[in-house]
Amino acid sequence: MEEESRKNEKLALAGQLAAGIAHEIRNPLTAIKGFTKMLQEPSDKQSYYAEIVLSELTSIEAIVEEFLLLAKPQHAEFKRHDIFLLLQDVVNLLRAQALMQNVELLLEPVKRRVDVLVVATQIKQVFINIVKNAIEAMPDAGRVHLFVDVDGETVRICIQDEGVGIDQERIKHLGEPFYTTREKGSGLGLMVSYKIVRDHGGDIDITSSTHRGTAVKIRLPVAEIVEVRTGTNGAWEE
Ligand code: ADP
Repeated sequence: MEEESRKNEKLALAGQLAAGIAHEIRNPLTAIKGFTKMLQEPSDKQSYYAEIVLSELTSIEAIVEEFLLLAKPQHAEFKRHDIFLLLQDVVNLLRAQALMQNVELLLEPVKRRVDVLVVATQIKQVFINIVKNAIEAMPDAGRVHLFVDVDGETVRICIQDEGVGIDQERIKHLGEPFYTTREKGSGLGLMVSYKIVRDHGGDIDITSSTHRGTAVKIRLPVAEIVEVRTGTNGAWEE
C-alpha cells in the first residue's frame, strides 16, 4: 500500500515536471517558428530575426542542459578538492559578467585549507548558479561577499549579496521546478543546486531581507583541514 502511494507520488511529480518542461520549451519554440517564417521573406530585419531565433534556441539548450544534469546517473567521480580553489575558479569565471553590471565579487581569503570530497564540475555549477543569482539581484551595482568557515565536520560557504532580496512568501518556493521571477529565468538553477548539494551530503539554507539582500549558505562535509599560511593575494604558501 505504502509502495503504491509512493509510486503514485512519483508519477505525479514526473507529470508535473513533464508539463513544466513542455511549457518552458513551447514558448521559445513558438517564437522560433514565427521568426523563421519571417526569415523566409526578404527583409532588412533579417539579422534581427536571426538573433531572436538564436537567443530562443539558447534558452531551450539551457533548459535541456539543466535537466540532463539532474537526470544523469551519479557516475561522475567524487574527488578531493580544496573548496577555496573551487570558489576562486567560479569567481574568476564570473568576474567579467559581474563587472558589466558594476558588481564586485569579494572572496575572503582563508587561513586553513579545507578539502571536500566532491564532483568538482557539479559543485562549481552550484556556486555559478548562486553567484549569478546574486549578481542579477543587484541591477544597480553592489557587492557579493563570498566566505568559507568551518564548524566541526562541516564547511560552510556563504554567498551574500546586497540586492533586492526575497520576501517571506516567495522564499518558500525556492527550489521548486520552474519557480522564477525573472523574465529570462528558467527557475531551474536552485532546484538543480539543491539536488547536487543533497547528493554530496550537504544542505542549502537561504535567508533574505527585502531591499537589503540575500545570504545563501551551502554546507558540505569536510574531508580534511590542513593548516597553511596564505599570502596577501590569498594564494597558498605551503
Ligand atoms: P532563475 O534564476 O532562472 O529564475 P533560480 O532557481 O536560480 O532560477 O532562482 C529562482 C528565483 O529565486 C529567482 O527567479 C529569484 O526570484 C529568486 N532568487 C534566487 N536568488 C536570489 C537572490 N540572490 N536575490 C533575490 N532573488 C533571488
